Formats: sequence, C-alpha cells, structure tokens
Amino acid sequence: MSAPRYDLVVIGAGPAGSAAALCAARAGLRVALVDKARFPRVKLCGGLVTGRALRALRQPLPADLLERRDSLSFFDRGAPLGQITGGPPVYLTTRLGLDAHLLAQALQAGAEDFTGHSVAGLAPGFVQLRNGPALRAPLILGADGVNSAVARHLFGRAFDPATIGFALEIEAPPSEDQSLQVDFGVAAWGYGWRFAKSGSTTIGLGGLQARNPDMKARLAAYLALLPDQAGARVMGHHLPFGELRRVPGRGRMLLAGDAAGLVDPITGEGIAHALLSGHLAAEAVIAALAAGRPDSALPRYARALAPTLRALRHARMLRPLVFSDRCGGLFRQAFRDSATMKLRYMDLLAGEVDYAALLRRAAWRLPLRLLRGR
Ligand SMILES: Cc1cc2nc3c(=O)[nH]c(=O)nc-3n(C[C@H](O)[C@H](O)[C@H](O)COP(=O)(O)OP(=O)(O)OC[C@H]3O[C@@H](n4cnc5c(N)ncnc54)[C@H](O)[C@@H]3O)c2cc1C
Repeated sequence: MSAPRYDLVVIGAGPAGSAAALCAARAGLRVALVDKARFPRVKLCGGLVTGRALRALRQPLPADLLERRDSLSFFDRGAPLGQITGGPPVYLTTRLGLDAHLLAQALQAGAEDFTGHSVAGLAPGFVQLRNGPALRAPLILGADGVNSAVARHLFGRAFDPATIGFALEIEAPPSEDQSLQVDFGVAAWGYGWRFAKSGSTTIGLGGLQARNPDMKARLAAYLALLPDQAGARVMGHHLPFGELRRVPGRGRMLLAGDAAGLVDPITGEGIAHALLSGHLAAEAVIAALAAGRPDSALPRYARALAPTLRALRHARMLRPLVFSDRCGGLFRQAFRDSATMKLRYMDLLAGEVDYAALLRRAAWRLPLRLLRGR
C-alpha cells in the first residue's frame, strides 16, 4: 500500500503543533498530526498563561481551563520583595486540560489523528511512524519540543545542553493561599515559582543548566522555604531558555515552539510563542502551497516570525541585568524598592509590554539604578 499523502505533516501536538494543525486544517489543507503521546498527557509546565498567549490563541478558551489571578508576590530566597496588585491579570491552567483541548480542536477541524506514534524516520517529504504508517507531504512542521527529532534530523542535535535551561517541578496538594509567587533567589540564572491552583499547587524552579549543577538540592532548599507538603514526585524537563534558531527550519521542514527555541530567556514563557509560531508556520504553508511554491514556506515563515525572534533577542540582551552575579543582587534590591519595576515585570509576564518597548523606555535608567544599587 502506498504511503498516505497530506499537504502538511505536523509532528508534536503541544500548543505549537495543535495551533498549526488547527489553522492549516481550517484552511482546507490535508493535515496529519503526529504525537508520541496519547492525550490527555502530562507536560511539565507551571501553566501560567499570559495575555500574550490568549491573543496568540486567537479564540476564547473554555472558562474551566483558566483561573484568573490579579496579584503576584516576589521573593528573594523567601524574603519578601513585595506584591503587585492591580496590574494586568494572568491566568493559570493545567497542560493536561489545555493541550487535550487544543488537540481536540485541531482534530475537529479535520486534522488526522496520529497520536500514540513517535517518529521512527524522517526524510524530505516523508515521515515514518513507529508502529504506524509512513506519511508523505511536501511540507513537514517539527513542533516536537525541546528534544525535537526534526531539529536533530536537520541540525544533528536540537540544542546544546550546556547552553539551555533545565527545570524541576512538583505538584503539591491544593492550598488555601491561592497567590502566585516568584522567587528570584532560589535558582541561578532563573527563578522559582509557586502557582497555587484549585486542583494542586505547582512548585518548581528552573534556570540555565550549566549554572545549576545542583538543581535537586536547590529545589529541596526552595521547598524548605514554603508551607507546602513535601514528598510529591519531582520531575524534570529541559527548556530552550533563550537558545534561538536563527532560521526556523531548513528546506521544506519548519520548526515551531520549543523546537525552534522560542522560550523567553527571562520569564521562561513558552506557551504564547508556541501558539503564535504554530499559527505563523501554518499560514506560511497555506500561502506557499496556494502559490504552488512549497519551497517558499520557510522564507515566508521566517519573515513572519522575525519580530518574535527580535523580541527574544532583546530579552537575551537584558538577561544579564536580571541574573548575572554582578547585577542579580542589585536587580533584586532595586526590584524590592521600585513599584515601577515590579509593575513593568508584571506587564512583561502578562504579555502587555514587549522587550523592545521595555528597552526603549527603561534601558537607560535600569543599569543606572542597578549600578547605584537602588
Ligand atoms: C518546568 C517548566 C515550566 C514551564 N512553565 C511555563 C509556564 O508557566 N508558562 C509558559 O508559557 N511556559 C512554560 N514553560 C514552557 C512551555 O512548557 C513550553 O515552551 C511549551 O510547552 C512549548 O510548546 P510546544 O508545543 O513547542 O512543545 P511541547 O509542549 O513540548 O510539545 C511537544 C510535543 O511533541 C511530542 N513529541 C516529542 N518528540 C516526539 C517524537 N519524536 N515523535 C512524536 N511526538 C513527539 C511530545 O509528546 C509533545 O506532546 C515551562 C517549561 C518547563 C519545562
């Protein structure tokens, strides 16, 4: 039997892959959506959903998938740095529910379901599934996360483990205290979080892997500062914390979301960029196929993604001001003393301001403030 033919094979049904499959299927393309997992599946994640992510989603989410939060508390190794209320809201979700919902929408729109199959082989226009059929399509989208098989096929490896991030997380029982907490002092070049949700309390910390060889000990030290019951299973996952791919793919294979390194190097936010890049990749594929020029999909996608890549590069430029040995302590002091800085951070976290605007508005003031230690 010959391999079934599609217009697009999407590998990975996380936010990037499901957004791409939904968009392409709605435009009438024949789409195969592959994931090694069966859904609902666990994906390690704080589940913080920003305004940026909601905009990138392009349609409302069912209310039961989101819990709204209007305040955020900041700490430095357990010492309070202050609380922000009245900033833009942020939301909490569970990836079990969110990703299953996004996948269901893509399938409803007509994408064909190949979940439960990992990729066994790749070649231009060809995807061999493990325990499944071979699929053919002029274009392939790798939305298969930080260990992307598509990126490995294209570039030899997805990312250099020495330069990316790593995070540990536990799900503790639900807590009366439903506040959002961020602790800047508990991980190097990263931070800790305690996101209390109605069903559980997600606690974790993450940062550059090379700067945190003792991540487990750091998590234990962080947990000792918190009121939550210890003992929950600790799980770990890499995140491409600011390691961008300059060109998101090669030839007729495109990369989106974590597979393209689209994680904010300061906040660790990845859901919004995954959703947006999935949509942009699908739109580029739709336009390229309509023009009868599948080879033009990657340049079209790269052009559409350029502002996002620029913003993430700006964030990387700012990152040492927040995390470096020289500036990190001063940043935390300044953060404690400045309501404006806290609000700007909340704006960033909520997706209400981007790094270019932040650089324009504050870059000249921020280093001075840091240098003065105020
Ligand atoms: C601990 C932690 C906390 C985080 N917290 C937040 C947060 O609070 N807010 C936020 O915005 N971001 C957060 N992030 C980042 C966010 O989780 C990711 O950026 C986001 O999931 C990227 O989506 P994606 O679709 O690109 O990849 P993923 O969500 O990783 O999806 C990739 C999919 O590909 C599938 N796959 C992988 N390999 C194969 C293969 N060979 N064959 C078939 N299928 C395959 C996987 O099963 C998976 O379903 C966090 C990350 C970590 C690690």
